Amino acid sequence: HFASIVARFGDREAVVSLPQNRRLSYAGLKEESDRLACGLVSIGIKRGDRVGIWATNNIEWLLLQIATTRIGAVLVNINPAYRSKELAYAIERSDLSAIFTIPAFRKSDYVTMLVELIPELKAMPANRLTSSQFPDLKRVVLYEPSSPENTGHPYSGFTTWQEVITAADSINSGQLDAITATLDIDDPINIQYTSGTTGFPKAVILTHHNILNNAWCSALAMHFTECDRLAIPVPFYHCFGMVLANLLCLSVGACAVIPCEHFDAGLVLKAIDQEHCTALHGVPTMFIAELEHPQFKSFNLSSLRTGIMAGAPCPPVLMRRVIEEMHCSEILIGYGQTEASPLTHLTRREDNFERRIETVGSNLPHQEVKVIDTQNGATQPINTVGEICFRGYHIMKGYFGDKEATAAAIDAAGWLHSGDLGLMDADGYLRITGRLKEMIIRGGENIYPREIEDVIYSHPKVAEVAVFGIPDDYYGEEIAAWIELHDGQTLNENELREFCRERLAHFKVPHHIRFVDAFPVTITGKLQKFRMREIMMESLE
Ligand code: ATP
Repeated sequence: HFASIVARFGDREAVVSLPQNRRLSYAGLKEESDRLACGLVSIGIKRGDRVGIWATNNIEWLLLQIATTRIGAVLVNINPAYRSKELAYAIERSDLSAIFTIPAFRKSDYVTMLVELIPELKAMPANRLTSSQFPDLKRVVLYEPSSPENTGHPYSGFTTWQEVITAADSINSGQLDAITATLDIDDPINIQYTSGTTGFPKAVILTHHNILNNAWCSALAMHFTECDRLAIPVPFYHCFGMVLANLLCLSVGACAVIPCEHFDAGLVLKAIDQEHCTALHGVPTMFIAELEHPQFKSFNLSSLRTGIMAGAPCPPVLMRRVIEEMHCSEILIGYGQTEASPLTHLTRREDNFERRIETVGSNLPHQEVKVIDTQNGATQPINTVGEICFRGYHIMKGYFGDKEATAAAIDAAGWLHSGDLGLMDADGYLRITGRLKEMIIRGGENIYPREIEDVIYSHPKVAEVAVFGIPDDYYGEEIAAWIELHDGQTLNENELREFCRERLAHFKVPHHIRFVDAFPVTITGKLQKFRMREIMMESLE
């Protein structure tokens, strides 16, 4: 499919990286990624081998994504926020044959450890680290994100990007095509880590079929074409960036615009303006940061048409602001999870306005969905809350190296149990009410944080909110709320409680309220309620 996109749109821009000041056409992307694929083969990477990438958003990331797919190697996305212990854990757990990383990360203690480790690896000493900790790791490819002025700087002991590219000379395009021809659509192609919103991230194995189809179906549902230009502030390391942004663009010949290495609201707004982006993706916290940016009004965002807001609850008030203030009239809500490659539901421009901002839409083609009773597993009647389950081509192969967790997530009939709660209406539109893990049970009442968050978020002074339960001796759990106000605004606990009392049953009014300047978030920008809970419990002790 990629070859046919290149044949049709070879001259069109495929990717623009503003921090690197670099642009590649589809023809250029194909040429460079094929060369990299040959380089990977010649340094010994084979179908099924795992190749890690621990880096920020840059063109090399995309090249490696395409090159590993071409030869059937499994790309393992490693969270760029990781530091030594977590990274060592990720490398060890996924038995990497090679890892690509950038020198900027040298600041971290883990790269210091690699610097020490690699010369030892070369000399093959009977070293505890080399022999027992990472027995399969043969290469560390250290690269500088390239720019016209900068061709990369080698550090001793590491393979460089340039060395991999030079090694490509020993493989010709016929040999590369022959390797690609042996691949199977159901081969694993990617290990994605979940966000770590509710705890330690899980390693999800995805296949070509899983992610290619998901990106393609999402692009069609968005009416995305080669004329679209997508601003991508979400990290490539997560499926939102890698599948719903990169692959989605590649599947229709659209242009992927990288505004920044790490999320920066000002740079995202500037990229939309300069590059005339027609689409913008993000988790809700990113859209909030963009709307709240002090120079927001000075950017011209009139080119925006569509995009996906997903990854966490998308409050209707925020959706209205994106439509009205960012002129993004067709902004859509996406819902899914890494285990489902990731998208299962999407609103569409054909939907009526209420459904577009209040539901997560209907399911994508070729996917099944049901809502079940959490006690007995029976399918719920319409408009009744239960656990959302998915089945279809998009379900992960499993959690890497964890058969038990896989069996707990996917039942014998092939249904993936999402751990999310929601209800479906008679036309198949889904509303998410929260996560099973985050449902608050206060004095026997089931309380969904989402409902309280939507109310608090509708307060004009509130910029962001998270509601969660914390243990309570009397009620079992009590409701806590962390709230960030718009710049320069003031509000006290009693005023907020009064606002809630007018709109919610008394038992849903938050008991513990904290006004904050920032929230603990994952690298994907998602609020980590379990951390807020820990912090709040410590302060209440
Ligand atoms: P972890 O499983 O490690 O705690 P995570 O579940 O956040 O992290 P992801 O796979 O990145 O990992 O996120 C999927 C989850 O995000 C979904 O299960 C759901 O709870 C939430 N989510 C995604 N989109 C939406 C949405 N539109 N509305 C509400 N929640 C959403």
